[in-house]
Amino acid sequence: MGVNVGEGEELVKYFGGCHCGAIQWELTAPRNIDASECNCSVCHKSGHLGIIVPRSRFVLLQGENNLSEYQFNTKVAKHFFCKTCGIKSFYVPRSHPEGISVNARCIDQECLKDLEVNPFNGREWEKYYPEGRGERLPS
Ligand SMILES: [Zn+2]
Repeated sequence: MGVNVGEGEELVKYFGGCHCGAIQWELTAPRNIDASECNCSVCHKSGHLGIIVPRSRFVLLQGENNLSEYQFNTKVAKHFFCKTCGIKSFYVPRSHPEGISVNARCIDQECLKDLEVNPFNGREWEKYYPEGRGERLPS
């Protein structure tokens, strides 16, 4: 799963959110974004293109009270979706519960210039994360 720490790279600000506008956030990430297209049960159905960043690089600007939470299986990941429009624009990933996985599809189109999408085989998640999680993110 692409972790977008961008060590030594120039970091830029992105804005995004859900479809109806109730949820709005700001993201700090490298200019060239590397997103993961994961084939696990939930990403496959929701079309999530994951960008994992440390929590300090994500600011929820608006809509905290309009979020609904969904959990399944190990209940480590927290899937947040907008109560009004149903879009999941970010969530807390099981591989990096101290971070945030932003959906690249929910970054405002005018903000997103350079997006690379790589497949991630989340159906075999345990193979990539035998310890039950990924490497710690910097704070
Ligand atoms: Zn919404």
